Amino acid sequence: MPSPYDFHIHTTHLKCANETMTVPALVERCEGLGLEAIAITDHLNAPEFMPKQDLIKADLEQIDSPLKIYFGVEVNVIDKETGAVSIDEEELAYGGFDPVIGGPHTSYHEKPDQESIIDLQHRLMLAVLANPLVEVLVHPWWFAGREFQPGGPMEWFTSMEQIPDWHTREVADAALKHKKAIEANHSAIFAAGQYSEAFRESYAHYLAEIAGRGVKISISTDAHDINRLDGIHEMMGILEGVGITREQLWTPEV
Ligand SMILES: [Zn+2]
Ligand SMILES: [Zn+2]
Repeated sequence: MPSPYDFHIHTTHLKCANETMTVPALVERCEGLGLEAIAITDHLNAPEFMPKQDLIKADLEQIDSPLKIYFGVEVNVIDKETGAVSIDEEELAYGGFDPVIGGPHTSYHEKPDQESIIDLQHRLMLAVLANPLVEVLVHPWWFAGREFQPGGPMEWFTSMEQIPDWHTREVADAALKHKKAIEANHSAIFAAGQYSEAFRESYAHYLAEIAGRGVKISISTDAHDINRLDGIHEMMGILEGVGITREQLWTPEV
């Protein structure tokens, strides 16, 4: 079954996505892909990003589309001690973002100290899930390609089986308790060169374990290039391959 949703998409305005990702172009592509609802979720890593977010909102006001389009935002963890994220209530009220999605974006380590990295990342994910401003935990256990280089902090990370099961259970329990979704992210995990085919397979089972515990899965491409939007249907196929159905997908309405 094709995916009905893509709830994590970047635009050219924040310069994270490339020039192909204008708002009209990405909306048109998503219509062509047969999606029912999408969320534009560009970054808000600091308050200085807000004027760029206003440009996205202005673009959306000009668009007439059969798609249900959410004007959301992606936030980062900005404090590794508390897990605080880069948005506060005032900025949320000003921006009018819905949904807010977010998570950690680094290991916060220089060396491949496996145990310490897993422990910190786990605690940060729990903090994001407990944060009332954030609705979706994005790309759990994603790390940038540079962190996987030899001698780098993530060089050891080749399978989700390296993450203890009780961590996964705790994350799922926290998501359930706080009524949060966990993301299945195509670009960050399933189309990212730093993760092997074997890793991706273990990751699909990780998502199945979480969904099996009753947590809603937010399906997304996290596209930074217009052609990456096409990955949404492959993402759905991967989820279906481990038994996750459309009924288990999250939408911002829930
Ligand atoms: Zn991200
Ligand atoms: Zn993103």
